[in-house]
Amino acid sequence: MTDNIIKLTRNNIQKLTPYQSARRIGGKHGTIWLNANESPISVSFKSKKQSFNRYPECQPNNLISAYAGYVDLSCQQVLVTRGADEGIELLIKAFCEPGKDAIIYCPPTYDMYRINAQIAGVKIKEIPTLKNTWQLDLLNLELNLNEVKLIYVCNPNNPTSSIILKKDLLLLLKITLGKSLVVIDEAYIEFSPKESMTCFLKDHPNLVILRTLSKAFALAGIRCGFVLAEKKIIETLNKVISPYPISTPVIDIALQSLQKDYIKLMQNRVLDSNSNRVWLVDQLNQISCVEKVFESNANYVLVKFFMYERIFQILWNKGIILRNQNEKVNLKKCIRISIGTRLESLELIKELKKFSKNNIY
Ligand SMILES: *Cc1c(COP(=O)(O)O)cnc(C)c1O
Repeated sequence: MTDNIIKLTRNNIQKLTPYQSARRIGGKHGTIWLNANESPISVSFKSKKQSFNRYPECQPNNLISAYAGYVDLSCQQVLVTRGADEGIELLIKAFCEPGKDAIIYCPPTYDMYRINAQIAGVKIKEIPTLKNTWQLDLLNLELNLNEVKLIYVCNPNNPTSSIILKKDLLLLLKITLGKSLVVIDEAYIEFSPKESMTCFLKDHPNLVILRTLSKAFALAGIRCGFVLAEKKIIETLNKVISPYPISTPVIDIALQSLQKDYIKLMQNRVLDSNSNRVWLVDQLNQISCVEKVFESNANYVLVKFFMYERIFQILWNKGIILRNQNEKVNLKKCIRISIGTRLESLELIKELKKFSKNNIY
């Protein structure tokens, strides 16, 4: 029977390695979680809703309007989704013909662009970013636009925490106009707000922006994200989204999180996280098992270690869970560390110092 099930499965799904989420590979015994870029601090919300017998609205007006206000766009330019991950998937569903069209993504980057294309049976073209600067390889992008409907660019990029130059993004929008959509994943934009491309939506009809409440808003648990784009694109995505994607308690909590006071709190957490990052980077630079600390623009930092494997394992055994990036394009020996609380960072530094003292480089 098991054999039969495998034979029944689509060919591309048989071959698929599913996304290795932090929750899937993070183990259970951790005490310091620095592997999923979550907020280390939780915000307390109460759902005021008491009855759940009715379906929610597909695109709840009040939530759309609250997010449109937050990003200074019109309601027609906003779609609410079950996390940014659903936005990635909906775009492929709506724009890519399986077996014919392709997407481009620029590794090392977030894996879900590739995985969603593979699930849908849509071709993928990998155009790695330039090594160490992590900028777009515009020359190669331009040469590879054939049949490409979507180009996913993550900014700030996960896991490098680097920023793509705005002039390069604008050039990419220009060379792809009329051929492909440029999808900019701004999951971490609140940590580098000046880099947001939302103000370019009005005169770039092929620009799509993904947002989420999972990172700076500290709401990874509720699964809520947004797609920002011109009206026609939002209407198209509305054709393929499921009838009731956002549950009633999620709508209620997301709405609360977008009230002025809560946005202010979010911005204060971002300031805290950014100053913790400066402290952590400074400390890391003084540790001898650290080979290189890459410049960071979000709530995580990419670090290249001597003996990265042993370090990862030793910290893991101590309950400090980091994210191994060694297998990714151009990231040999690299580990991604989420910015935790100052206390968590202290604990991490203490262990790294201990390790360095016992090993010579
Ligand atoms: C975390 C993350 C997401 C997923 O966001 P959700 O809203 O939680 O689905 C999307 N893109 C990037 C780059 C991320 O790091």
